[in-house]
Amino acid sequence: MTPLQQANKQTAEYIIKNLEKRNMQGFYCENKAEALAKALDIIEKGSKINWGGTMTVDEIGLSEAIKNGDYKLFDRSLAKTPEEVRDVALQAFDADYFLMSTNAITYEGELVNIDGMGNRVAALIYGPKNVLVIAGMNKVTSDIDSAIKRVHEKACPPNAIRVGAQTPCSKTGICHDCLGGTICCQTVITRFSRIKDRIKVILVGEELGY
Ligand code: SF4
Repeated sequence: MTPLQQANKQTAEYIIKNLEKRNMQGFYCENKAEALAKALDIIEKGSKINWGGTMTVDEIGLSEAIKNGDYKLFDRSLAKTPEEVRDVALQAFDADYFLMSTNAITYEGELVNIDGMGNRVAALIYGPKNVLVIAGMNKVTSDIDSAIKRVHEKACPPNAIRVGAQTPCSKTGICHDCLGGTICCQTVITRFSRIKDRIKVILVGEELGY
């Protein structure tokens, strides 16, 4: 194990203890392959699955595995009209598993997410029986302030470019705290799960997503 891998593991163990205090379940996987195996171990076959816009679920190979597996998937990317997009987003509330990453996670185990439409954070807060969060250790920050800063500085500019949003950050790579046309509408801090272990977090010792 390299010193970086060792440090990641130790940090993840610290965060997982804090997640438990917050009624959330945490796991640590060294790499993408382990994370994929862990996710597939957690999600029961036949589950109804929905997901929020997430690069990480793609990067570990989970989207492909779900598409080809014995699951009932509601996939917003296949929706052809705005009405269909809305329908799939609403179906997330009845999912057995909602899959997402988190824009940031603090040492203390708080999840920090900033959304444009809000469907992803809405499902994180309420509805799906389980929320499975998969996050690379690049999403870890020391506290909530640095988490929010991280999202505006590191996550939103590439996300705005990815979705073709005409925001200042998509043109300059830097947050200008914009309003009109912004993809930063809702900032959600998850500090406790009312339902024990509804939110499960797999931390991965690799850089994943933004
Ligand atoms: S420029 Fe606007 S959309 Fe981009 S990160 Fe800042 S607030 Fe968010």
